[in-house]
Amino acid sequence: MDIKYAKKIITNVLSKDRVEHSFRVAKVATQLARKYNVNIEKIELAAILHDYAKNHSKEELKRWILQSSLPKNLLFYHSAIWHGPVGALMLKQKHGIVDRDVLSAIYCHTTGKEHMSTFEKIIFVADYIEPMRDIPGVEKVREVATENLDQAVYLILRNTIQFLMSKKHTIYPSTFYAYNELSATVGNQMEVI
Ligand code: GDP
Ligand code: FE
Ligand code: FE
Repeated sequence: MDIKYAKKIITNVLSKDRVEHSFRVAKVATQLARKYNVNIEKIELAAILHDYAKNHSKEELKRWILQSSLPKNLLFYHSAIWHGPVGALMLKQKHGIVDRDVLSAIYCHTTGKEHMSTFEKIIFVADYIEPMRDIPGVEKVREVATENLDQAVYLILRNTIQFLMSKKHTIYPSTFYAYNELSATVGNQMEVI
């Protein structure tokens, strides 16, 4: 799929604000891809499409989970995490996207997962640090992202887990797995922030 077509299909399914968010994510992701030697066109495509399913109703997302081979345990967690896996599936089925890097980065962009590729990490980080994000701690993640991608992923996971716990929300297991994996390496290297 070319970028022009990707832009067209998201304008059909996403609100104007969401489309603009996707373009900002694409810009940041492209910069990171240059730094970390990842295919620029492919990262741009994944970034533009990453929130494809975001404006679909909760009921529709749930139907896609129930009627596919997506893990049913998603349904035990907050619906905010459904649009990644469902978006990847919709793009595959409705738009013929087959690229595994693109699909898997979209799949795990909200929760993260263990053994993330550099491509997946870039989408995960770019979504969190795009210029309009005003999350406590985001400045530090922006600084770190250009130097050490794993440290950026680690900080995001830690912030997200802390935030969700403070709200008494449940946390999807993949998020913990990703966090634990990085804690063993980057968590110990970093000065505690
Ligand atoms: P967006 O789609 O660009 O708004 O960003 P994301 O896809 O990263 O996040 C959607 C929301 O899901 C955010 O508000 C996160 O805090 C939240 N989120 C991320 N992981 C989890 C989780 O494991 N459980 C719950 N309940 N929410 C999560
Ligand atoms: Fe998202
Ligand atoms: Fe997003």
